[in-house]
Amino acid sequence: MLDIAKIRRDFPALNRELYGKPMVYFDNVATSQTPRQVVSAIEYGYYNAKANVHRGVHTLSQEATNLQESARERVREWINAAFNEEIIFTRGTTEAINLVASSYCQLLTEGDEIILTVMEHHANIVPWQIQANRCGLKIKAVDINEDGSIDINKYQTLFSSKTKLVALCHVSNVLGTVNPIKEMTAIAHKYGAKVLIDGAQAVAHVRPDVRDIDADFYAFSFHKMYGPTGIGVLYGKRDILSLMPPYQGGGEMISHVSFDGTSFADLPYKFEAGTPDFVGIGAITATLDYLKEIDLESVSHYEHGLLAMATEEMMKIDGLTIYGTTENKSPVISFNLAGAHHYDVGMLLDKQGVEVRTGHHCAQPLMHALGIEGTVRIGFATYNTAEEVKYFISALTRCAALLI
Ligand code: PMP
Repeated sequence: MLDIAKIRRDFPALNRELYGKPMVYFDNVATSQTPRQVVSAIEYGYYNAKANVHRGVHTLSQEATNLQESARERVREWINAAFNEEIIFTRGTTEAINLVASSYCQLLTEGDEIILTVMEHHANIVPWQIQANRCGLKIKAVDINEDGSIDINKYQTLFSSKTKLVALCHVSNVLGTVNPIKEMTAIAHKYGAKVLIDGAQAVAHVRPDVRDIDADFYAFSFHKMYGPTGIGVLYGKRDILSLMPPYQGGGEMISHVSFDGTSFADLPYKFEAGTPDFVGIGAITATLDYLKEIDLESVSHYEHGLLAMATEEMMKIDGLTIYGTTENKSPVISFNLAGAHHYDVGMLLDKQGVEVRTGHHCAQPLMHALGIEGTVRIGFATYNTAEEVKYFISALTRCAALLI
């Protein structure tokens, strides 16, 4: 059993009041709040081990390096990767995908094809488009069914001998759809294509097992899973990463530099140019400790209770449409009120203390497929409560009365 009152005490941000009302934070899909354990770990790094990593023989530098490298080992263990060299620290999911797009696409030849899905975040579309233009690659996108699930039959028909990569989200940031990534990866592998999974929306709710999925790449951001901002991970299979050229050049990523030529460092450093956010990376250990302590499986079960309750109550509001109704859904609800602009709904909810996200959610191709410009979106985290859901429903009912 989760002790939600205790968990809430770990998140001081939840004590805020907005317009004289207790804040209800439902914008967890964009970013989650951070517990004091993680903030304390960041404070510890700044006050005790603020020395640049990997470059110093002195004690402080070695301690900073140890904090970073033990965080790498913890991430490896968390996602069940085989080797620490397969864990590359980035600024986030976006940078992780850009890394693969810039580097892996250099191994492809003109006319090769990449498969995406219509529900991808711009972070998993635009980097591929940039490289496609540069290298003469072709992008195809899989459609979705009415309930927001992937059309698997359509997916299978998109493969050809030229398909070299599939890039798809584990969980949609708009629809909440949990994609059958293991099955989709196996299909791609049958055609000899590599697979990149955008795990940004999965990692706060499930612990991905990259070896079980058999993903070639898996990207995610810590700020969405109660961790520090500005840090993400690219997992990549060692044999593929070894073949890929560096993404950025600079310090840390070289073995030897001269004007006659430069040789590059081994994995993972080949892909980690410059000084990383080593203090933040050090706090990843505290982040994963926290996720272990609250137990993601219980959290996920609890969040699904909130999802079911909110969905049932929202369906009773006249004129409300929910986008994404698959069985296997993450605790995300995107919706619109007929005749009301999503911004107006968001602003009226904010005035009642409820923080929600509005707009296209960086998924304009999906909006186009749904025939809308945007939605209001809520998402649940471990600290949300049934009382907050009830309050949200009454606030939303007031919005509907005012706007429809
Ligand atoms: N992919 C998905 C599915 C996301 O939801 C997000 C964040 N909204 C991203 C990628 C990008 O993540 P970040 O901004 O942390 O790089």
